[in-house]
Amino acid sequence: MTLDRRHFIGTLSATAAVAALPGCAATAPGAGGMAHPLLIGKARQVLLARGKAPRVVVCGGGWGGLTAAANLRQLAPRAEVVVIDRNPVFFSSPLSNMWLVDMVDGEHLTHDYLRAADKLGWRFFQAEVRQIDRDRRQVVTSLGTLDYDWLVLAPGIRYNYEAWFGNDRQAADAARTRFPSAYASNAEHLAIKRALHAFKGGEWVMNLPPPPQRCPPSPYERACLIAWHFKTHKIKGHITILDHKPAIAPIGLGYKLAFEELYKDYVTYVPNAHVREVDPFNRRVRTAAGDHAFDHAILMAPHQAGDLAWLAGTVGQDTSGWADVDPVTMQVKGDARSFVIGDAIAAVSPLPFRYYPKSAHIANRLGRIVAYQIAEHLAGRAPERRLPDNLCYMVVNGTPREALNVQFDYGFDEQGRIAQKQLDFNERTPALYREDFRWANFMFGEMFGSAAPEVTPKA
Ligand SMILES: Cc1cc2nc3c(=O)[nH]c(=O)nc-3n(C[C@H](O)[C@H](O)[C@H](O)COP(=O)(O)OP(=O)(O)OC[C@H]3O[C@@H](n4cnc5c(N)ncnc54)[C@H](O)[C@@H]3O)c2cc1C
Repeated sequence: MTLDRRHFIGTLSATAAVAALPGCAATAPGAGGMAHPLLIGKARQVLLARGKAPRVVVCGGGWGGLTAAANLRQLAPRAEVVVIDRNPVFFSSPLSNMWLVDMVDGEHLTHDYLRAADKLGWRFFQAEVRQIDRDRRQVVTSLGTLDYDWLVLAPGIRYNYEAWFGNDRQAADAARTRFPSAYASNAEHLAIKRALHAFKGGEWVMNLPPPPQRCPPSPYERACLIAWHFKTHKIKGHITILDHKPAIAPIGLGYKLAFEELYKDYVTYVPNAHVREVDPFNRRVRTAAGDHAFDHAILMAPHQAGDLAWLAGTVGQDTSGWADVDPVTMQVKGDARSFVIGDAIAAVSPLPFRYYPKSAHIANRLGRIVAYQIAEHLAGRAPERRLPDNLCYMVVNGTPREALNVQFDYGFDEQGRIAQKQLDFNERTPALYREDFRWANFMFGEMFGSAAPEVTPKA
C-alpha cells in the first residue's frame, strides 16, 4: 500500500504553501512589528505590549500549537501570533521509539523554537503558563502577562497518578521517576533510553492505561522495538504487555503477527489487565489478569487533559478529565474566542469510537482547522465546517526495517454526528517504514518551515 494520496497531497500543498508565505522570511517580531520589551521579570508585568494587530496567543508549542501558529501566519497575516511553551526546544514523540533503539538520531527529532519563530513570523516565549483569565482575555506566564483577542490552547496531556496512588505522593514520585513512560513529558524519553541500554536481562513490564490514551498504537510499537533490541543484542529479556483493553487495537492483526512471528520468545500480550495496584518500591503490578513482578517497567498512569486545559477552566464536570469543546469548531463551550486543540479535547461523537485518536496527525489537523476559523472570523466571514483525518505509521521490525499503518477518515452521518472510518494496514512492509519518514518530514516542514532539519533513517 502507498501513502494515502489525499492525505499526502493535502500535507504536501500545505507545507509548500507555508514555505511560500510572504511573511515567512520575516524575523521573529512578526505581524506586530514591535521591539521586544524587557523579558526578565515578575509574572504580573506586561510581557508584550499591545499593538494595533489582533493578537492570537497559542499556549503550548507542541504539534497542535505549532501547526496553528504556522497556518495563522499564512491565513491571517495581519494577526500577531505569540507561542508560549515551557520547553526550550521541541522534541518529537513520533519517531521517538526508533530513537530509543538507535534507529534514528535524536538531533533529527529536536527542533529550535527561536529559529522557527524567526522563519515563520510568530513570536516565541519560553515560559510557564500559570493562569488563564478568559473573562479578561489575559494569560499569566512566568515571564509576565499577555492580553489576547483569540486564545488557542494546545496543552497535550498529563498523568493521573491519583487514580493509582490517591494522595500517596511518595509512591507517585517513585513510579514517575524510576519507571517513567515518556507519554506526557519529553524529558522522560532519555530516562527510558538509559534504562534500556543498561538493561542486562530479565522481566520488562509495560502497561497500557484505559482509553482514551495518547497515541494508542505506539506502546505496541515500543514493545516491538525493545524486543528487536533484545533479539539483536542477544539480551535475555522478556516483555509483558499489560493492556487494559480486551484486545490489541488499532492494527490488531498486524501487531499480533509481529509478536508471534518476530518476537515469540520475547513478548507476552495480556488483555483485560486492569491495573489494581502498583508498587514501584517492590517492583510489582497487580492487575485483573494476574500479578506481575518486574526488573524494569514502563508504568503508564491514566491520561487526562494537560494542566492548561484545567487552568483555563475548560474541563467540564462530565467530560472525564478532558476539555469541553464544540466537537466541530473546537471552541470552548460558551466562549467563542477560545479554542482547545490536540490530545486535550473530550469526546467528539456519541458513536462508539467517541474520541478522536490522540495523535500528532489529529493535533496538526485541528491546528489547521482552528487557524482557518480564526482567519475567517477576522475577515468577517462565517467559517465552513471542517473535520480532520488521521494517519499513523508504526515500526515493528528493525531487520529488515518494516512498519504497519492505520488511517481514519471522518464525516457527518445522516443525523449530523461525526462518524469514523478506520482502515488498518496489517501487512508490515519496508515501504510503510519509508513513508513514516516522509510523513514526519512533511509535518516538520509545516510546523518549522525551512528551519526543520530533515529526518533520515540511520543505516
Ligand atoms: C512514544 C510516542 C509515540 C508517538 N507516535 C506518534 C506517531 O507516530 N504519530 C502520531 O500522529 N502521533 C504520535 N504520538 C502522539 C503525539 O505525540 C501526540 O498526539 C501529540 O504530541 C499531541 O499534540 P498536542 O499539541 O495536543 O500536545 P503536545 O505535542 O504534547 O504539546 C503540548 C505542549 O504544551 C506545553 N505545555 C503544557 N503545559 C504548559 C504550561 N503550563 N506552560 C507552558 N507550556 C506548556 C508542553 O511543553 C508541550 O510542548 C506519539 C506519542 C508518544 C508518546
